[in-house]
Amino acid sequence: MAIEQTLILIKPDGAARRLTGLTIDRLDSTGLEMVAAKMVSVSEKLAREHYKALSDKPFFEGLIKYIRGEFHGIKDHRILALVYRGENAIKAVRAIAGATNPEQAAAGTIRGSFGRITTAGQFENVIHASSDPADAAREVALWFKKEEILP
Ligand code: UDP
Ligand code: MG
Repeated sequence: MAIEQTLILIKPDGAARRLTGLTIDRLDSTGLEMVAAKMVSVSEKLAREHYKALSDKPFFEGLIKYIRGEFHGIKDHRILALVYRGENAIKAVRAIAGATNPEQAAAGTIRGSFGRITTAGQFENVIHASSDPADAAREVALWFKKEEILP
């Protein structure tokens, strides 16, 4: 069993629909440890860097607007970023998050219960969670300085 770190973002739909507390409660229930937390004003540059692997997708420009809170009236583009650490943290958090497509996400997962697909086709799925060890390492380093993460 590997001790992993994983990045979680409460996406703008999650914040706007008051799902921050519920999300943290679900994360706590995994038994993983919260080792970093901060509100981040998501610049255009940070959004594009975070999602750079998807830059050729048709939904990319909408995704950048979505993560910056432009569809949910988020003040100053601010979202909550978290790092959780523990055994198999990446899979454990993906499991409570549910599948990317909210229509395919299992009942009872965060995305299955609270996600939606907008009429414009955007998946609004409440949280971001790193998908594999390489992504997790890249994303944690992108959103947090070393000294902001508990040892
Ligand atoms: N997304 C979308 N339409 C798609 C696929 C993805 O709107 O067909 C959005 C969705 O918000 C998703 C994000 O792009 O969470 C990143 O996509 P990825 O495939 O990395 O899914 P995730 O890792 O978030 O489950
Ligand atoms: Mg992903």
